[in-house]
Amino acid sequence: MPRALVAGGAGFIGSHLCDALLDQGFEVTAIDSLVTGREKNLESARARGLKFVRADINSPLKEWSRDLGKFDEIYNMASPASPVDFAKMPIFILTTSADGHRHLLELAREQKARILFASTSEVYGDPLVHPQVETYFGNVNPIGHRSCYDEAKRFGEALTVAYHREFGVETRIARIFNTYGSRMRPDDGRIIPNFFIQALQNQPLSVYGEGKQTRSFCFVTDLVDGIIKLMRSSEKFPVNIGNPLERTVMEIALAVNSLTGNKASLRHLALPENDPKQRKPDIARAESVLGWKPKVSLEDGLRECLTYFRSELSASPDGIVAPTLG
Ligand code: UDP
Repeated sequence: MPRALVAGGAGFIGSHLCDALLDQGFEVTAIDSLVTGREKNLESARARGLKFVRADINSPLKEWSRDLGKFDEIYNMASPASPVDFAKMPIFILTTSADGHRHLLELAREQKARILFASTSEVYGDPLVHPQVETYFGNVNPIGHRSCYDEAKRFGEALTVAYHREFGVETRIARIFNTYGSRMRPDDGRIIPNFFIQALQNQPLSVYGEGKQTRSFCFVTDLVDGIIKLMRSSEKFPVNIGNPLERTVMEIALAVNSLTGNKASLRHLALPENDPKQRKPDIARAESVLGWKPKVSLEDGLRECLTYFRSELSASPDGIVAPTLG
């Protein structure tokens, strides 16, 4: 039976990845510090035999890898990723894609396993090239509020290609664009959880700025499918994985208010520093190299979110606060 390790396995994307690998007949181990991951995301996977290890990949490799055995595939999905987290734990975010990722690369090197690094569209910063193509080097403020995440992921990419060049490790790099779906933390502060949690509590939606900035939203099952296809490919260099269907923040707000029947409308807050004005992946490389493109429509994806965030709220009788920036 092939064996996979998913770091950040209790997180939003990581836990869906664990489910998909179990579906494919893998023996799966998830490691997570639970700083932002949630053990309940792995309940169904654990019932199907997934092994969960609570540990921080930033700790020395020997401390947590001793009894895990040998892996064929290592996925590094570990990192806080919400702009709200950037203000709370910037140093932890930086070290996780540096020390933590290095530990996983060492493990892959020792075990001759393939390793995939979950990078991000944030490596493009506030992009001056649109849509973003993998050959674009980006426009990142190295000392801004988002820099802990952007530069950590840029360093993580550099470390990944260095392990490939110096030691011949079989590496993969996925540049993940905005992703949404069940198991997002309802108080994570990102647009989809914030808008649903606010709308379902009849509150006005917190639109930053005029809401003209754009994002392109990929449903989590599509994303996971792309990640696994990339792991199985022979592509060493970064591949954008995301949905090119671009929407303004205002369009998302109106869609959520209409879907939930929320009459409380909107409240505009200041646009956060360095908030990218536009974001849309060019997925030509993913289409040609992986034969992958997203399938789930925004309408269907948002409907699934409605069910999910409703159930999160019904499990929280005191309500949930959607944290806003600023
Ligand atoms: N956004 C917003 N209100 C919120 C949360 C986010 O208007 O309560 C906007 C934010 O300014 C950004 C977009 O939604 O332009 C996506 O933000 P998110 O935090 O989800 O992810 P990002 O792509 O910025 O990392």
